Amino acid sequence: MQDLLHDVSIPAGSRRQKRLRRAPVLLPYPFPAPFDYAAPEGMALEPGDIVLVPLNRRQEVGVVWDEGAGDEVPERKLKPVSAVLDAPRMPADLRRFVDWMAAYTLASQGEVLAMALRVNALAAPRPAMGYRLGAPTDATHAAPRMTPQRQRVLESLADGLARPVGELARVAGVSGAVLRAMAEAGMIEAVPLAASPAFALPDPAYPGPVLSPAQAEAAASLRQAVSDRRFSATLLEGVTGSGKTEVYLEAVAACLAQERQALVLLPEIALSAQWLARFEARFGVAPAVWHSDLASRVRRRTWRAVAEGQAPVVVGARSALFLPFTELGLVVVDEEHETAFKQEEGVIYHARDMAVVRARLAEAAVVLVSATPSLETLTNAHAGRYRHLVLPQRHGGAELPRIGLIDLRAHPPPRGRFISPPLEEAVRETLGRGEQAMLFLNRRGYAPLTLCRACGHRMQCTQCTAWLVEHRTRGTLQCHHCGNQEPIPAACPVCGAAHSLTPIGPGVERIVEECTALFPAARLLAMASDTMQGPNAAAAAAHAVAERMVDLIIGTQIVAKGWHFPHLTLVGVVDADLGLAGGDLRASERTMQLLHQVAGRAGRAEHPGRVLLQSFAPEHPVMQALLAGDIEGFMVQEAAARAPGHWPPYGRLAALIVSAETAQAADEAARDLGRAAPHGEGITVLGPAPAPLALLRGRHRRRLLLKTRRDVAVQGLLRAWLAKVAVPRGVRVDVDVDPVSFL
Ligand code: ADP
Ligand code: ZN
Repeated sequence: MQDLLHDVSIPAGSRRQKRLRRAPVLLPYPFPAPFDYAAPEGMALEPGDIVLVPLNRRQEVGVVWDEGAGDEVPERKLKPVSAVLDAPRMPADLRRFVDWMAAYTLASQGEVLAMALRVNALAAPRPAMGYRLGAPTDATHAAPRMTPQRQRVLESLADGLARPVGELARVAGVSGAVLRAMAEAGMIEAVPLAASPAFALPDPAYPGPVLSPAQAEAAASLRQAVSDRRFSATLLEGVTGSGKTEVYLEAVAACLAQERQALVLLPEIALSAQWLARFEARFGVAPAVWHSDLASRVRRRTWRAVAEGQAPVVVGARSALFLPFTELGLVVVDEEHETAFKQEEGVIYHARDMAVVRARLAEAAVVLVSATPSLETLTNAHAGRYRHLVLPQRHGGAELPRIGLIDLRAHPPPRGRFISPPLEEAVRETLGRGEQAMLFLNRRGYAPLTLCRACGHRMQCTQCTAWLVEHRTRGTLQCHHCGNQEPIPAACPVCGAAHSLTPIGPGVERIVEECTALFPAARLLAMASDTMQGPNAAAAAAHAVAERMVDLIIGTQIVAKGWHFPHLTLVGVVDADLGLAGGDLRASERTMQLLHQVAGRAGRAEHPGRVLLQSFAPEHPVMQALLAGDIEGFMVQEAAARAPGHWPPYGRLAALIVSAETAQAADEAARDLGRAAPHGEGITVLGPAPAPLALLRGRHRRRLLLKTRRDVAVQGLLRAWLAKVAVPRGVRVDVDVDPVSFL
């Protein structure tokens, strides 16, 4: 490693003749660059060291960086570094990643660093006793008695990690005596926490499934990419159920065999339960898991384990990109087309794109996986920038589901209902055969709009440009943008008419209500992100479906993702047109991807699946592409629509979002920015215009959109642009490079 800390001698004439060294230290706050500190004599510092430094009379944790801002504070004015913390050094490739990301997103280096230090990893874990699951018992012995209490303890330990005694007792709601009795019965085992290795080593030689020829070929190609030990990017495309997961787990095995680390990014950690079971089936142990809801103890331990090379595989949400891997060999982005990979708050970035960068800086292989790759990724594959592997068939001869359209103009549901007669009939038939059905509606709550029948007033959020959504089970009206909620009023707040408020349109709760009336004997399961929180709830639901404790599943987009439900043979989409309404750049592409993914839940095992899309626009290209099973043709059309106007991926976009307390302040700042907008060949600026969410959390919002040709670097333009405009206090300008949301 290049030691960039430079010796600086104190100017002649100084009374102290000692040589001081400058140490640039980056702090996890929105400072644009590192500050210089002095390295006290005897303190050896290297880039990556995690240190304590004084800042405004406080001690802050920072990281010794490679280069400072270059401003010449005289050495004698530098404050000394207080201490080097006993924590693993931040690796050079992660530091370069922080630099790269800051430059690309226009966030400050410090803000990006904050994402890599968002863990109190610095206190070394204290040795203490804990329990973990006992080794499997000898089958000839009688199984120990099972009680609900014991069951809860086993569930709390299901991740295979050891938990401290006190915490386990609290989480499982049992006494210490219960735990001791279970330990005596061999169900759990006491271990010293510090001594137990954080994560068991997955065994790459553990037998995997026998791959089909097409799978084997793809797997061999990925294994080779990992063995090459240099950067490469591969798109692994394959219809739902074609075995993409099994194939990329082979790449993980290759990475493990080289004793390097693998990172798998999933768009929604809630669906990881089934994924984790798959991983365990493949490798015999659980991987490390990383997401924002981890308990701080687990977080600390995982972070350390990654930094010490003790966590060979991490599966995580986008924030896992910032873990201090010592030897990253492989990054997998599963469901790469998912917009959930875009972080919309704080540092705005796309985790799929950043995963490619992270891999490049680590000289690792990256694999992007999808049944319906984004146009961005497809274009990179077609241009030869990414390798392209395709699995054309479902595994084991399972057929892709048959897709049918129900024209709602010809087959309207009865008044006040949302399930058309043909869909009702199809559900009835499916349930009659003892198979499972699923109804999909991508809208939480009971009704998206509440209207007064007497005066026409619509219930709206006071803080946002949004209707309030009725959540009947909770008795509230809620704003899905700011989270504000209020009880459902008995009378119209404007005209005072009693019992005049009427729900308009369906949310998933309303479909549950309708199904309860239509199929009274069916066992229903509602799955929505607000009613099913955390991986455990999702796991329990998946288990209930797999064990056929459920006949009819009704859910929001949470049911679309990755699940493998072998007995599910019918999927009904209540409102297939829903995603087309917003009309942004990618509305069609996204709708196609989502509907294709939901459809892919049907018929994954021996029974063929069937999908029915309810639509008012059956002639729409999205519906026709799904009907014909011609995703490829659809994407060709999409490409043809975007290329001439230089829309992404044939051009670049960056948005400026101006927000302020008052509409006037927002307008003024937006106007100033508009006047200072860059111009030139291949550069267009759209706006300023009120954002579709013109009011969000009480702030007034305006947008400007910079569109350039692909060969124009937008970062330089943006920096020069922003530097020209003095934004008053209280006005914020957020920069969104490569925007996905246009709200
Ligand atoms: P995808 O990720 O493409 O949707 P999966 O990897 O989830 O597909 O595979 C679908 C199902 O088929 C899973 O239950 C998986 O375990 C099974 N499967 C895929 N390939 C094989 C194989 N070669 N042998 C046995 N089972 C397989
Ligand atoms: Zn609101």
